[in-house]
Amino acid sequence: MRVPVDIEMARCVACGHVDAITCVLCAKCLGTEMAAHAVPGRGRLATWTTIRRPPTRFCELAPYYVCVVDLDSGPRVTGRIDTLAGAKSGAPVMAVPCESGIRLFTLA
Ligand SMILES: [Zn+2]
Repeated sequence: MRVPVDIEMARCVACGHVDAITCVLCAKCLGTEMAAHAVPGRGRLATWTTIRRPPTRFCELAPYYVCVVDLDSGPRVTGRIDTLAGAKSGAPVMAVPCESGIRLFTLA
């Protein structure tokens, strides 16, 4: 059984709210102290799309798939998904290692 990789997020020191790593301000309590916080990369597929005309730096990868995932730990994140075969709303997904540093999911 494969184990999902963790996803780096930010956690509010004051209230514990977890949000995207880029947040500098807590969306729940407006606290300004956010700390790095890893969450398990397991969740449910919310939606997805196919990128057929990507930005120049990703042209060689087209077409590729971008998805939105509701993590089991609460936050909603974006990433890529390796295939759409079998994809449906609510399908379980997990984050997998990706050499390029892109957040990559696969159907679990
Ligand atoms: Zn907070």
